[in-house]
Amino acid sequence: MIRGQYNLSIMPKILLPVMFSFIFNNCNSQINIEDKNKMKRETMVESQIKARGIKNQEVLNAMLKVERHLFVPAEFAAQAYTDNPLPIGEGQTISQPYIVALMTEVLDLGKTSKVLEIGTGSGYQAAVLAEICGSVYSIEIFESLASKARDLLKILGYKNIIIKSGDGYTGWKEHSPFDAIIVTCAPTEIPEPLTEQLAEGGKMIIPVGESYAQELVLLEKHNGKIKEKAIVPVRFVPMITPSGEKY
Ligand code: SAH
Repeated sequence: MIRGQYNLSIMPKILLPVMFSFIFNNCNSQINIEDKNKMKRETMVESQIKARGIKNQEVLNAMLKVERHLFVPAEFAAQAYTDNPLPIGEGQTISQPYIVALMTEVLDLGKTSKVLEIGTGSGYQAAVLAEICGSVYSIEIFESLASKARDLLKILGYKNIIIKSGDGYTGWKEHSPFDAIIVTCAPTEIPEPLTEQLAEGGKMIIPVGESYAQELVLLEKHNGKIKEKAIVPVRFVPMITPSGEKY
């Protein structure tokens, strides 16, 4: 061997184990994080959701499957499975997991249901719905949130969610009637265009009331008439107009 030159034949002997251990350790820590988040989801479903009376197995499976930590900003990922709403930007929040499960359960969704969501936010509720039903149409007033949610849901492989940016107060007439409507921002009164776009026999769940203190109301349409039932007091962000005023 000429001095000053390296013997390349021994390089793999040194480098390969180093590379292997690097890849192995990295994969290992990745697996650990995924396992930990799966365990956190299982605990969330047992202690926050089943414990409060949610029984629908499809809903429980969806809550076990959808990775909530991917839908919150990185700095809140560690808190993704706690019993709380969390900030998602633009002053908006992703709802508490139990409320997501409750609102989904009361809609009685089936595999072919067509659902309208008002308030896409992070896209988490849309993903939970898409696990259970045929198609989800979701409207978000902030373009930035709509496009972020659209990108994430595409990466996650959801093909049955369509998101548009706009004012959800007026619903999405072209795709109506909807078997179910879920509203995740609170107007002071139930928007008429939404009850109009509800199919016969359909259900709508909506928080109604003044800022940050509302009642979750379940509506059902039978023979063209709307029946209302208050479910539980809640605190949602307000439904706003395109100029930012409260509806
Ligand atoms: N379902 C969401 C929760 C989002 S919070 C999730 O799973 O993350 C409610 C959302 O409603 C906010 O993103 C807010 O920007 C949106 N919003 C408020 N008023 C709206 C309106 N008029 N039309 C559509 N979206 C609206």
